[in-house]
Amino acid sequence: DQETTASKYAGVTQAQLDAHWMPYSGNRQFKQDPRLLVAAKDCFYTSADGRQIFDGLSGLWTTGAGHGRSEIANAVAAQIQQLDYSPGFQFGQPKSFILAERLSHWMPPGLNRIFFTGSGSEAADTSLKIARAYWRKLGKGTKTKFIGRAKGYHGVNFGGISVGGLPANRAWYGAGIESYHLASTLLPENRFTRGEPEQGAHLAEQLIDLIQLHDASNIAAVILEPMAGSGGVIPPPKGYLQRIAEICQAHDILLIFDEVITGFGRLGYKTGAEAYGVVPDMINVAKQITNGVIPMGAVACKQGIYDAFMEDAGPDYQLELPHGYTYSAHPVACAAALATLDILEQEQLIERAHGLIPEIEQRVHQLQGLPYVSDIRNSGTASAVSFEPAPGEPLLRPYQVAMAMWSKGFYVRYGGDTVAIAPPFIAELNQLDDIYSALGDCIAELT
Ligand code: PLP
Repeated sequence: DQETTASKYAGVTQAQLDAHWMPYSGNRQFKQDPRLLVAAKDCFYTSADGRQIFDGLSGLWTTGAGHGRSEIANAVAAQIQQLDYSPGFQFGQPKSFILAERLSHWMPPGLNRIFFTGSGSEAADTSLKIARAYWRKLGKGTKTKFIGRAKGYHGVNFGGISVGGLPANRAWYGAGIESYHLASTLLPENRFTRGEPEQGAHLAEQLIDLIQLHDASNIAAVILEPMAGSGGVIPPPKGYLQRIAEICQAHDILLIFDEVITGFGRLGYKTGAEAYGVVPDMINVAKQITNGVIPMGAVACKQGIYDAFMEDAGPDYQLELPHGYTYSAHPVACAAALATLDILEQEQLIERAHGLIPEIEQRVHQLQGLPYVSDIRNSGTASAVSFEPAPGEPLLRPYQVAMAMWSKGFYVRYGGDTVAIAPPFIAELNQLDDIYSALGDCIAELT
């Protein structure tokens, strides 16, 4: 009725809706039927029409500790009162140093030099620039090419879309930076595997082929998500990442893990590197680093990379790396990150997330056999259901399922042929029951 329609808009006019060009959204559909969120607490959003909506993707993989955390709000408020902004170039503020040292204990041993960015995309491009500059610094300036992977996602900047492997993100934007791609590890023989598949480690050998083709003397780095999130929750086959790391090491190629989704607990470990027992040369993080409250990203580097820049760098007042963002190490983001790490540690949320893994696995795989379900995958606390394409409209079914979920009070992510669910680390088992059984109902309603 009219009143419900009006309340759905939360007072936002059509002109206001039209004025915002929304990111990664079907703008035309959204503006006809907006899905507005007006508040959030713990695992739930409140929609403009007053419903409680379970947060089935922890924001955008950001908010594992749940919403409305007063510890973070207080830290942010206090920081704004005390030092709201400070220049990060040639001047500093204490919290970035405290945070950097603290983060180094969250990273695998040795990745103890932290470069701050404002987002995951900036972390991706920063890591690629550091890789190229590192080799140039070592007198190996021909090492400039990058290897990414099909279905990989490394944000939306030019470096990131070049190494990324999602065609829709890349195809419209013209030339990027020179990059080649390993095949995706999403194999038909692994459909409906629980957790990490047995098949697929052999795909790491493609890196040898690419090295033969381009020569290691021309390759700067390999960049991969340990678990490919945006590509549809694709866990690495057993042994795959280990083999990639071995090959990189044997050929003097840097290995970058993009852990923007997997960092800080999503896999039930501090990092994907820890989850899979592989130590890369750099790790990119963002999202969960501040529980999503304030934008922030970071690149954690092996000390040897940092040291290479510090050596023979001219007078000591001279820049060692001409790179950085106005919002690198923003004091308010640092305060939010420190408060987030406190929560993750004090409430043992990484351990709690780890405990949810079998619960999520069991619930999501119960959906096997429902109409049009072509695959189900899970990795850590991330899970995904893929759908057979509807005739002529391959993206339709995930959209229909997500909209049906929204009307039942659940927010889930849809994209490509997949619906993804990655609940907050604080989710209760009955909430997992609710979301996966609602998902089953919505799939059963597909026509
Ligand atoms: N890298 C990975 C693995 C991501 O999942 C994302 C975002 O989803 C990004 C990079 C980009 O991060 P941002 O959107 O903060 O730029």
